Formats: sequence, structure tokens, C-alpha cells
Amino acid sequence: TYPNYGRIDGPIVIIGFGSIGQGTLPLIERHFTFDADDVHVIEPSDEHKTFLEQRGVHFVHTELTRDNYRALLGQFFAGGKGFCVNLSVDTSSLDIMKLCREFGVPYIDTVVEPWAGHYFDLSLTDADRTNYALRETVRREKAANPGGTTAVSCCGANPGMVSWLLKEALLVLARDTGQDATPPKDRAGWAKLMQSLGVKGVHIAERDTQAGRDAKPLHTFVNTWSVEGFISESFQPAELGWGSHEKWFPPNGHRQEKGCKAAIYLDTPGLLTKVHTWTPEAGPQYGFLVTHNEAISISDYYTVGEGDTPEFRPTCHYAYHPCGQAVLSLHEMLGAGKVQEAQKILDENEILWGEDCLGVLLYGHERNALWYGSRLSIQECRDLAPFQNATGLQVTSAVLAGMAWALRHPTSGIVETDEMDHAFCLDVMRPYLGRIEGHYTDWTPISTRWAQFAEEIDESDPWQFQNVLAT
Ligand code: NAD
Repeated sequence: TYPNYGRIDGPIVIIGFGSIGQGTLPLIERHFTFDADDVHVIEPSDEHKTFLEQRGVHFVHTELTRDNYRALLGQFFAGGKGFCVNLSVDTSSLDIMKLCREFGVPYIDTVVEPWAGHYFDLSLTDADRTNYALRETVRREKAANPGGTTAVSCCGANPGMVSWLLKEALLVLARDTGQDATPPKDRAGWAKLMQSLGVKGVHIAERDTQAGRDAKPLHTFVNTWSVEGFISESFQPAELGWGSHEKWFPPNGHRQEKGCKAAIYLDTPGLLTKVHTWTPEAGPQYGFLVTHNEAISISDYYTVGEGDTPEFRPTCHYAYHPCGQAVLSLHEMLGAGKVQEAQKILDENEILWGEDCLGVLLYGHERNALWYGSRLSIQECRDLAPFQNATGLQVTSAVLAGMAWALRHPTSGIVETDEMDHAFCLDVMRPYLGRIEGHYTDWTPISTRWAQFAEEIDESDPWQFQNVLAT
């Protein structure tokens, strides 16, 4: 028997049935009560039509667009009931979220996604193509229309789960350094806790070692989750929350002019921006500094003080080592100067071994660095839930947690995962996360450098971003 997280009255509409949609559906079926004949999937590909129809799910074979989303979603939600679960690419999270709130229907997504075409639009400036700009659109909407029906923004593994793991990690670090480990009650309290612990920054440090049965075919982009999503974000400017301890500023870096100003962006795309990082599985490793919403939201949430030079703000960025075949795929794509026409997401049957090791690396404090996160192997994953690999399950169980939280908090307005109850959400996720582990390490970004080539290193503070950025 599985825990039941409540009843969803009215239609459940899943937008997009790719790797995450396919993994989320069985978790919804497992953990909520709902009308079995009122589940709908809106999806332009008919690859899973038969599967859905055999399960009794109403398949709406179309793409959601700027022109049809009001009418199409209105058919389901005009009665003011149901749940909108947006797991698609190429649809505007902001527009759909606003519409659902007009109807009084709860909404969840895993990323702030724009309508099709945005990521590669050459008429946009680099600043316009950042996740900072996308996130600001949602933050402005929240500020203009506070409260109201709950819409959970960016609730996957990262962004999403990592914000909850970060809070748990801060409490572990407080306990282990003899400080008060009582959970703070509000944002200001959490920010003060991070500051008082001496944390300078946070890597979202991930290593995906899932390996397929077959070698990567030529001219095919292979990944363990959305190929389209990964390519889009890899081509956005690299972006990071910019901490108050930083002394150096990247020569190709830009500050933001409006909004919370918690993040900066670089003139290089994420797939050409490598950082030194650490995960328990691999130890020291390179990660791609791919832009992500959580890099900005975490730096914003944990800021102490106001203005352009706050008293405290952590540096925060993603440091992602995708699965081996995805690294080869990026390499091939860059060299070819075009995106591969063939794309493949490795499913749980094709992956022979490996794990997704995804957590937060809190650095710069008394114990140097603490990695805290989920290590989920493909074998564990197969036993836990159907139709997904380890990467997928870390995401879909976060969607489940976000939905369960939203049902309990139906009028919390637009929220990011930093603003949700981390303990409740992690409790929902825990059965699906394999092992949640904490590891202290003595490693620093300057402890594993090659001496053969001169590098500009700031030895006075190993955790300066200057040292983290690989040259
Ligand atoms: P996917 O590429 O496997 O699937 C996306 C699906 O959206 C596809 O089936 C596609 O046909 C469909 N789609 C495209 N245009 C559409 C439209 N206009 N209307 C409706 N559907 C449309 O991607 P995925 O791996 O399932 O990821 C889904 C989303 O979740 C992506 O936005 C991705 O970036 C995000 N994601 C977030 C996290 C996280 O941790 N926060 C992790 C993985 C994926």
C-alpha cells in the first residue's frame, strides 16, 4: 500500500507526455484519489496513444500553442476544478499558470518554459535569453497578484528537490558544527542560518553515470531526460547566483539591471562553461555550468540585507556532469555546428547500470564542504516505479510532492520550492530517492589542478568562483 495524498476533484490535465510525463502518471495514479475517467494528456506526438488509451487516459493529440491554450484548457478547467500538470517543452509556463489561476485550478511545472522559438531567437539579447529574465516574469506576476490559487513553479529535481535538500543539509551542518539546528520559521531565518554557518556558496553537483547497453550511435543526441530541454538550456548563457564573498568578477560576466539582481550571466553558453566540482560517486570532476532557475532562486532566497551589495548572499550554480553519452552528444553537436536530427532518451530497459547522484555541495564553512543529496541507481529505480530511469524518478517524485503540498495549501499563490515546506516534501519523495547521503570532503577547487599549465588561482580563498571556473 502506498500513502494517499488526497483527492483531486475534477480533471487532471497533463501537458506533455515525454520522459517526465510518462513517469509522473503512474505516481499520480498511485498516490491520489481522482475520477479515473477524467485524466487527460495533451501531447503532439502520438507515440504513446495506445498506451494511454489502454489505461483509460483521454489523449488529446495536439500541441498547446499561444493561440489555442485558452480555449483548450478552458474546456477542462472552466468549472474551476482539477489540476494542471505542465510537463512539456515549448509552452509558456507563465501564460498557462496565469490562466489556471484565473480558473482557480492548481498548477505545477518543473521549469519556467517559454513558448516555442524563444531559446534560439537571434533577435533577443543574451540578457533576454537568461533564466533570470524568465524567472523575473514569474516573480513579477507573483508580486502583482499575490496570494490566490496555488501555482508551484519549477518543482522537479533541480530546480525543485535540491532546494528542499539544501534546507535539510543546513540543519545537518548546524548539528555537526554544534550550532542550533532548530528549523528556522521564515526566509530571513534560513538566510541567517546559512550566513551564520559560514557557507559561501552552493553547487548543485550532479553526476549521472547511467550507461546504455549500446554505444552512442553517430549523429544521435542521447540523454537520460529531455534532449530538447537540455539542448535549450545548454545554449542559454551560463548563469549563476553571485555571492557576496566573491572578490573577482569574470571578464565576460554581466550583472542584471532590473529585478532581484541576485545573479550574473556570462558570454559563454553552459555547454562551453566548465567548473570544478565534487560528488561522492566520482570525487573531483568537471561539471557544466548550465543555467538553471535554482541557481538564481537560491541566491535570492538566502540573501541577508538589501540593495546591490547585500550583507550576505551565497554563490550558487549548477555543476552538471550528464551521462557519458550526453557528453559525447554535446561534443558531436558543437563540432558539427548543428543539432542532431536523431534524438534518444535512454529508458530504464536500455540502461544497464549507473546512478544519478544529485545533491547540493555547501562550501566554504568550518567543515570545508558538505555534499548532501540523492543517490539513485537504475536497479533501485526499476524496483520503485515504472516507466522511468533514475534521473526521471528524482524529477517525478518531486512533482508528486509538489502536487501533494499544493492540495494541502490551495491558496498559497505562486510559489517556488524554496518557499515550500521542505520537510513535508522530502518525506513524500524519500521512498523514491534511493539513498539520501551526506558526505564531508576536504576537496577544494584548487586541490586537484594540473601543475603543467600556469593558471590564475587565488590561493587566499579556494572557494572563489575564479578558482571554480575551469580555464
Ligand atoms: P521530453 O522532451 O521527453 O518531453 C517533452 C514533451 O513535450 C514531448 O513529448 C513533446 O512532444 C511535448 N511537447 C512539445 N511541444 C508541446 C506543446 N506545444 N504542447 C504540449 N506538449 C508539447 O521532456 P521531459 O524529459 O519529459 O521533460 C519535460 C519538461 O520537464 C521539460 O521542460 C524539461 O526541461 C523539464 N525537466 C525539469 C527537470 C527538473 O529537475 N526541474 C528535470 C527534467 C526535465
